[in-house]
Amino acid sequence: MPRFAGVVVDAPLNTVYHYRIPPEFSGLVEPGVHVKVPFGPRKINGYVVEVADVCPIEEKRVKDIAQVGEPEERVTPDLLALTEWIAVYYRCGWGEALAAATPSSVRKGVKEKTVLHLSLTAEVEEARAALEFFKKKAKKQAAALEFLLLKATASGLAESFPFAEVETATGASRTAVRALEEKGLVALSPVPLHRELASLAEKSKKIVLTGEQHDAVERICAALSAGKFSPFLLFGVTGSGKTEVYLQALEHALSLNKSALVLVPEISLTPQTVERFRIRAGEVAVLHSHMTDGERAEEWRRLRRGETRVAVGARSAIFAPLDNLGLIIVDEEHERTFKQDNTPRYNARDVALVRARECGAAVVLGSATPSLESWHNAITEKYTLLSLPNRVGGAKPPKTVVVDMKTEWAEVKQMSVFSRELQRSLTLCLAKKEQAIIFLNRRGFHTYVHCASCGEVLGCADCDISLTWHKASEDLRCHYCGLRKPMPKACPSCGATALRQTGTGTERAEDIFRKLFPDARVLRMDSDTMTGRDAHARALSAFARGEYDVLLGTQMIAKGFDFPNVTLVGVLSADGAINLPDFRSAERTFQLITQVVGRAGRADKPGRAVVQAFQPEHYAVQSALAQDFPAFAEKELAERESLGYPPFGRLARIIAKGASPVKIKTLLAQAAEKLKGASRRPLAVLGPVPCPVEKIQKDYRFHILIKARSHREIETMLSACGNELSSGKGVQVAIDIDPLSLL
Ligand code: ADP
Ligand code: ZN
Repeated sequence: MPRFAGVVVDAPLNTVYHYRIPPEFSGLVEPGVHVKVPFGPRKINGYVVEVADVCPIEEKRVKDIAQVGEPEERVTPDLLALTEWIAVYYRCGWGEALAAATPSSVRKGVKEKTVLHLSLTAEVEEARAALEFFKKKAKKQAAALEFLLLKATASGLAESFPFAEVETATGASRTAVRALEEKGLVALSPVPLHRELASLAEKSKKIVLTGEQHDAVERICAALSAGKFSPFLLFGVTGSGKTEVYLQALEHALSLNKSALVLVPEISLTPQTVERFRIRAGEVAVLHSHMTDGERAEEWRRLRRGETRVAVGARSAIFAPLDNLGLIIVDEEHERTFKQDNTPRYNARDVALVRARECGAAVVLGSATPSLESWHNAITEKYTLLSLPNRVGGAKPPKTVVVDMKTEWAEVKQMSVFSRELQRSLTLCLAKKEQAIIFLNRRGFHTYVHCASCGEVLGCADCDISLTWHKASEDLRCHYCGLRKPMPKACPSCGATALRQTGTGTERAEDIFRKLFPDARVLRMDSDTMTGRDAHARALSAFARGEYDVLLGTQMIAKGFDFPNVTLVGVLSADGAINLPDFRSAERTFQLITQVVGRAGRADKPGRAVVQAFQPEHYAVQSALAQDFPAFAEKELAERESLGYPPFGRLARIIAKGASPVKIKTLLAQAAEKLKGASRRPLAVLGPVPCPVEKIQKDYRFHILIKARSHREIETMLSACGNELSSGKGVQVAIDIDPLSLL
């Protein structure tokens, strides 16, 4: 038996620490097992990564492992390797990566809530005989037994019933049932409370693949059978049948006895999505952030025990403990929610490729608007490109109309929110009893309050961001830190009573809509109205059932659902984010318009999209209206290449925050010097400069951007830094490799 264990702890440290395995844990400690170990004055979480008979450090100094997790819940060798890769690549502790890769509820030993069930264990004849006997002597026992016997003879099956149900039906007490159990007639056992996902089962219709789908499925299945690492980019417009391709590939993987992993953005992880996979793949485990601790732990354990071989989930599901992984699907691969914005700052899409490579799996990245990184990999043939250019069933792409809001405002002589064109289209749509979706990417009522006398814009004192007026709750709110306060009577800066409100959020858009169309039933959907656990899913299904005419909301409504009766989509401000100081803002604008517009006219009814924009001539708007991703990509790639941005270079961002801007700047300036010293191209280091959002929750923020040719170059440069990159003394430092946000 090994006597020592090498442990990595949940802290930003990349050292393997050695501990003794005390005799009581002998045989339980293996690589991958969760442990608690003394670390300085406290005990901390860690994972065993190696065991040995001899100790590499002086034995006297070695401490004992304090606590050991369940050996059968240990992390598998492939996930140990994957998290080690994450620690190196994303520059965090291996222990931190392991902690992120397993639900904390599993470490804590949280069990799922259970319900006591009662079942018959004796043969029917024996139970009947006992029943006769009890009828005179023990009425309550008799009642319970009779209940089970009746049910057993009715169904011919041994079934179990919630004890509470038996209790209500028969009046039998727990004591009576325990007495029956002691005689070996019945059993009381805990059964996990089953998660009841609102089932809107789509009918399992018989599908004949289109030629394009067929080709895609064939290519993926061939790769699955070959069992070699094979990356695919499945590029298909909304409604082109990508999901059907995933499902058939999944079925093939299962038929080869392999397991499969499906990643979807949190927002499209609706019961409908899960249901589609469940119908075709049988049992699937679901992993996402809206589950209780017990549910998440239980799903993880089911996968770990091999009871189910398909996991569907959001970002962290990339760490699902599946053996013999054959297929990883990443739907909507361009989505930024796949990137975690705290340590470890991994991108699940990229980790999917690493995991697939390690286990010789096929990986399918799917999107109607691929990230420029994945598209570049596809056109340079690092990935196999599979295209589904047409909508299934000949549904035509919607007819798009763009409204130049500069002209509109000049002509109607006011800052209108719904253009005349959009109003006309809405009137027609409602008259035909069809449905519409209206999209606006800002919540709240007014998005700015400014002083007409001095020009001051009311901002959050703790964050560098303007406050939004929420009418229903009658308060000003900061969307960064959540601050709420009443509207001041006068300008806090000059004292003039001249505060004016401008800018439109979803709350105001709803207000205006109701005045324009008093008879229409409108459902607003944003994070202010969707607060309950299943609110999002319930609202979408109410809309799908036709309980509303119009769905108005933020990006929550942009994807993940098929509404056959939606024939009109209105985008109130298509280019609202186009001038943000972020090189990806054109890409985001393109994605957003394409995705929303793709919601219209999916079935037999032709669709129409009215897109309002202030810069309708911008290539991101123009190519989105034409639904022409390759044209957009060509333009955008040329732009990126000339500036050395991804996919033509690699980025890393060092963000430092704290109470003292001087301290932060000094620290980052030292880091910048070292980074420049380690690079042959001094222009690769930009900053330190204040972040575009300079202050969040009282903390000042500065950053350095490293623009390198390769990831290796970034590693070399970062390795030249020392203490400048670690937090301490009032400054928190974070390194973001391949950042998606530069704000
Ligand atoms: P995507 O994922 O690309 O948006 P889906 O896979 O959801 O597209 O397909 C859109 C709709 O078309 C779904 O209702 C789906 O069941 C249906 N569908 C997909 N492929 C076919 C096919 N070959 N024949 C008929 N209907 C199909
Ligand atoms: Zn704030």
